Amino acid sequence: MIVLGGQLSTAKGLDYAIFHAAQYGLGTLQIFSRSPVGGQSKPLPKTGTVTGWLEQAHIRPFFVHAPYFVNPAATDPQMKNRARVVLSEEMIRVKRLHGDYLILHPGHQQETSVEESLEALSQTIRYMLKKPGFVLIENAAGQGREIGASLDDLARLFSHLRRLRRIGFLLDTAHAMAFGYALTTADDVSRFFEQLDQKIGLERVKGIHLNDNMYPVGVKRDRHAHLLTGQMRPEGLQQLLSLADEKHWPVILETPGKDMAARSQDLAVITQLMDIGQK
Ligand SMILES: [Zn+2]
Repeated sequence: MIVLGGQLSTAKGLDYAIFHAAQYGLGTLQIFSRSPVGGQSKPLPKTGTVTGWLEQAHIRPFFVHAPYFVNPAATDPQMKNRARVVLSEEMIRVKRLHGDYLILHPGHQQETSVEESLEALSQTIRYMLKKPGFVLIENAAGQGREIGASLDDLARLFSHLRRLRRIGFLLDTAHAMAFGYALTTADDVSRFFEQLDQKIGLERVKGIHLNDNMYPVGVKRDRHAHLLTGQMRPEGLQQLLSLADEKHWPVILETPGKDMAARSQDLAVITQLMDIGQK
């Protein structure tokens, strides 16, 4: 059985989000623990209450997405320090929320080389890992000065972090397509995962953000779209789903909308393709 989940808003409370996910039959969930674009962070629910909710709703793993108002690849000392402070704090917040993983976007290249940015990013991650918890690097779309979009960049990053255990990879399909990896046919999907295995290792993969992308493959523009309304085609998507099923990778929808009602078409597509795959 594939473990499905979604990015949900916690505007009505974390308990509301958790039970909303359960209502839609989801087995996993992703939230932001604070506004991703900045501002004061809200107090967290009392320690212990969240595990109870997650248990009752049968939600695991529980993913928390790091805010993006800091740049973990910053080389400027002040910005670098700010990223370290905010992201270490976030590690503590994830622990208090009983989250399993903190998902991190690689960040942006400043007035320096890609190699130096990747080195700075690996230092930020080492700093974060002084706290308990598990960090997942998400591949970027390669918009503007984003680093960590190509499998080669990511391979270099993981080679810097080789000895660390509490680090993994989360694949965003919309970002991969935006950067230039076609995931259209079943062959495309197989080829992509072969490369991913060679460069990063499939054992590093801890989950998938399953999103279509509105813009053509390779134009480096990221706009999440409902499944099969952008660049994806049924055979490629089916191949992706059967791989996720086989490898037990949790699949998280970040398609448009703040709740699962808005994503019922995506859930229907997945159910239909999984059914066909099992026949
Ligand atoms: Zn994503």
